[in-house]
Formats: sequence, structure tokens, C-alpha cells
Amino acid sequence: MQTTAAVVREHGGPFTIEDLELDAPRHNEVRVRLVATGICHTDAIVREGVYPTPLPAVLGHEGAGVVEAIGDSVTSVKPGDHVVLAAAYCGHCARCRRGQMAYCENLLEADFGGRRLDGTTAFTDAEGAVVSSHFFGQSAFATYTNAVEESVVRVDPDVPLEHLGPLGCGFNTGAGTVLNELKPEVGSALAVFGAGAVGSAAIMAAKVADCAIIVAIDIHDSRLELARELGATHVINSRAEDVAARLSEITGGSGLDNVVDTTGRPELLRQAAESLGIRGTVALVGAARAGTDVSFEIGSSLVKGWTFKTVVQGSSVPQVFIPQLIQLWKDGRFPMEKLMKDYSLSQINDGFADSASGAVVKPVILF
Ligand SMILES: [Zn+2]
Ligand SMILES: [Zn+2]
Repeated sequence: MQTTAAVVREHGGPFTIEDLELDAPRHNEVRVRLVATGICHTDAIVREGVYPTPLPAVLGHEGAGVVEAIGDSVTSVKPGDHVVLAAAYCGHCARCRRGQMAYCENLLEADFGGRRLDGTTAFTDAEGAVVSSHFFGQSAFATYTNAVEESVVRVDPDVPLEHLGPLGCGFNTGAGTVLNELKPEVGSALAVFGAGAVGSAAIMAAKVADCAIIVAIDIHDSRLELARELGATHVINSRAEDVAARLSEITGGSGLDNVVDTTGRPELLRQAAESLGIRGTVALVGAARAGTDVSFEIGSSLVKGWTFKTVVQGSSVPQVFIPQLIQLWKDGRFPMEKLMKDYSLSQINDGFADSASGAVVKPVILF
């Protein structure tokens, strides 16, 4: 069948809207009619060539839509079900068997390979040339796609699909880092470096977890204002203020219990580590470029017993965690729609530009 998709043909090049041929779903796949797909930073850096997905490719990994058809061995959904599409995992490696799908040993192949495991792609272009598919198991910048069952999360049909796509990656990552990985104590102090989509989700989750001090740090005042609406108790514009001094003042000198860093910038990670209190943790969730090198002064901080860790996809099992976030949204405790702005598929390049400039926290393509 035909699908209309945004295709990246060269590194750094624009998305072009093309009609592609979509093949039949395989035994383990689900054909989805997309309703909405969020734009995530990882789409942008794959377009730049930071990860090795072969071009041309259909990107997009925050899809939400309706199941149209299923392969023979699919058991978790049926046609008509509403679904969110999350990152793929293999389901059979030692990490997946432990319920640690975010750390799947076959993650690169499953999410960035651009091919099925048998080497085929789901898309061909008008010239009959192959186009990479199965980005994060889904390639969701398309009106229809074939997603692997591991990427598919069945969701409550009463909740509007228009706002659910970003649960597949960005919001899952930010909220999961707090609720699944850091598990902050009630009344503790948490700071978020970088109040974009992932950071904003971390702020909402910190409020859900009853942190007493929630600090948002960013360079855009508009994002800091939004952070306050979402639950930040304090905000710091790192261009205008001394971050270390302000954090010390806010925590009364005792330091932070947890930091979520979404920036991956060495000077901010060092700052985050220095702002920790005893037994504090810095969690890096941003995609740091290869070669990123951070140095920490450990001599004087040794006695704090602190931790630095990297966190992938909020350490979550999508099929468990995404329905939990939807329940929090229904309860008014995860107001994610405040972060989103809608675009049509033909406006996808504008959506990426607005995300890069910081003008929009979470652009969403509506089909
Ligand atoms: Zn695995
Ligand atoms: Zn993402």
C-alpha cells in the first residue's frame, strides 16, 4: 500500500514529503495508521549523522495511532486498538530477560539499523529504491508504518491520541529517569539541567514524587516560566545567574539529592556533580556526542559517596510505564499538553527549526 512520509536523503538535508510503497506487515509486526508523531532531539542528530542509520530514511520515533492490521504471531494488540510506539528491544537478551529493555544488548541494531533483522526495509520510493524503515522499531514520520510488536504499547482509547506520541520517547525518558531510576525520597531536592521536553517531563515527575525542592536550570526564560507551571519550585537562568551559588542558597548549603542532566555538556555535568549533597546522584540522559569527555574533582568529593550514572529511555518497560504516565495525565498530574505545539506533515522542517531554536519544547506532527 502507499504511505506518505517525511524522508531524509542526506546528512543535514531537509525532510522531503514523498509517497512510498509500504510492504505487508511481517508475522511479528503491526501496521499502524499514525495520528500524531512527536519530534525528538534524536531524530535531529540522526539526520546529522551522529548515529549510523543508513539514508535515505524515514525517521520519527514518538508515534501514536490506530492498529490497522497485525502479523500472525502478534498477540498484544488487535485492529482498532489505540497504540503509542516506543523504542524497540529484542526481547530475548539477558537485559531484556531481566526487564531492563532500555538496556537491550541489541539496542543499536533494533533502533538505529534502519532494517529488519532479515535485512529488508518496509519502504521503497518512486524509483523502486529502498528507504530505511524500523527506526526505533517504527519510523513514525509516515501516514502508515509497520512497527515491531516490541515497540507497540496499547493505550486507553478514551484518551486523545493527538497528545500521546511523545510518551514513546521524550516524556518516557524524563519521567522514567526520575520515577524508575532515581526514585527520589519524599521531601528531597532535585535539579534538572536543561528544561526541554525531557527535562520538563522530569520536573513533572519530581512533583509526582513529592520532591520538596525542584530546580529548573535553562538559558531560555520562556522554558523556565513553563517549568514553574509544571512544578519547579525554583528556576535559574544559567546565562544570567551563578548556578553554583544559587543552588547552594536554595538547598541551604546541604546540596542536591538528585540531578537530571539533559544537556550532556561537560561544564554543566561538572557543575551538577559539585552541587550534590551527601549520597547524591547525577543522572545523564542527554545524547552526548562521541568524544565527550568530563572530568570530576574526586579528591574532596570522595567522602560524599556520590554517583554518576547514564540513563537510557528512563529505564522503563514501555508497556508498563507509558500506561502509568497516561493515568497520571488523566489525574491532572502530568500536564504534558502544555509542552506541545502542532504541525502538519508538510510543516515538519519548521517543527525541527522551532525545536532547535528553543521556541517550542515539543513539536508534534498531526497526520
Ligand atoms: Zn534485548
Ligand atoms: Zn527520542
